[in-house]
Amino acid sequence: DAAKQRQCGSLIYHAQLDVGSQESLSLLSELRQAIAAGELRLYLQPKVDLRARKIVGAEALVRWQHPTRGLVPPMQFIPFAEQTGFVRQLTAWVLAQTAAFSRQALDAGLSLRLSVNLSTRDLLDQDLPAKIEALLTPLGVAPQTLCLEITESAIMDDPERALSTLEHLSAQGFKLSIDDFGTGYSSLAYLKRLPVDELKIDKSFVLAMERDLDDARIVRSTVELAHNLGLSVVAEGVETARAWNLLAALGCNEGQGYFLAKPMPADQFLDWAKAWAPPSQLEESGES
Ligand code: C2E
Ligand code: MG
Ligand code: MG
Ligand code: MG
Repeated sequence: DAAKQRQCGSLIYHAQLDVGSQESLSLLSELRQAIAAGELRLYLQPKVDLRARKIVGAEALVRWQHPTRGLVPPMQFIPFAEQTGFVRQLTAWVLAQTAAFSRQALDAGLSLRLSVNLSTRDLLDQDLPAKIEALLTPLGVAPQTLCLEITESAIMDDPERALSTLEHLSAQGFKLSIDDFGTGYSSLAYLKRLPVDELKIDKSFVLAMERDLDDARIVRSTVELAHNLGLSVVAEGVETARAWNLLAALGCNEGQGYFLAKPMPADQFLDWAKAWAPPSQLEESGES
């Protein structure tokens, strides 16, 4: 990991660059050029209905195909993009690519729910609901097929404004999901007020639940909490057949993780989905 950090230039990609510093300015102009030069890549990671064993959607995850640094993971430029406000342009790019992919999937006879990650800055953008609608409507993509993932901390940054944006998004029919649930500092009082449809259990709990009883209990309680609030629940970080079986037994609705597939370039997704069959290591769920 340390080697990878060096290879990507730990200095420029360090999350806490001084905004306004020389390094920060040059990274910002590099990022601007990255969009113009077509260096950003849309990756998709599939989501499965754990009981029905069907591919139901995918999460859009961005990467930067850098001319000299190779494929740069999002954690090495998203925090910086958030700090500088550039993330709004990045989000617009991801949304446009995802909408186009959604149209392509529909044309191929596949109805998928696609999730896009929003940042704090996106939630403060009062025009976001209208911007997304303007992207989807000409393509004939229904708002219900787009899910927006928001972390608790993004909401708690400015809860009132975030709530207002979320209410608008929800009123327009977009699905909303709380990402990395359990790692932020939102209160249940806020959760109750949010017009969300889904909780996404953070992968730290899912990865640890097979060996740590407390993590297993957190996962179970989160599934119960979600269902008691009438929400759907997704587990990220499903890396083994055992985790899948356990989550299915707990009633967790959907799963996403390396056991199913790693994020892949969007243009490979449809072929992958068509060829997919439920793995043989899964236990009988009693449903089909
Ligand atoms: P996230 O939204 O929580 O996305 C899930 C991350 O977990 C992805 O990392 C995914 O590759 C990884 N993951 C999924 N399944 C497994 C698994 O079984 N095991 C392990 N170890 N990891 C798994 P990725 O793609 O590196 O993205 C990291 C974060 O970067 C995302 O976390 C999200 O917060 C941010 N991000 C990615 N794309 C975007 C974007 O387009 N916009 C914004 N605002 N943030 C993005
Ligand atoms: Mg996410
Ligand atoms: Mg997540
Ligand atoms: Mg996460």
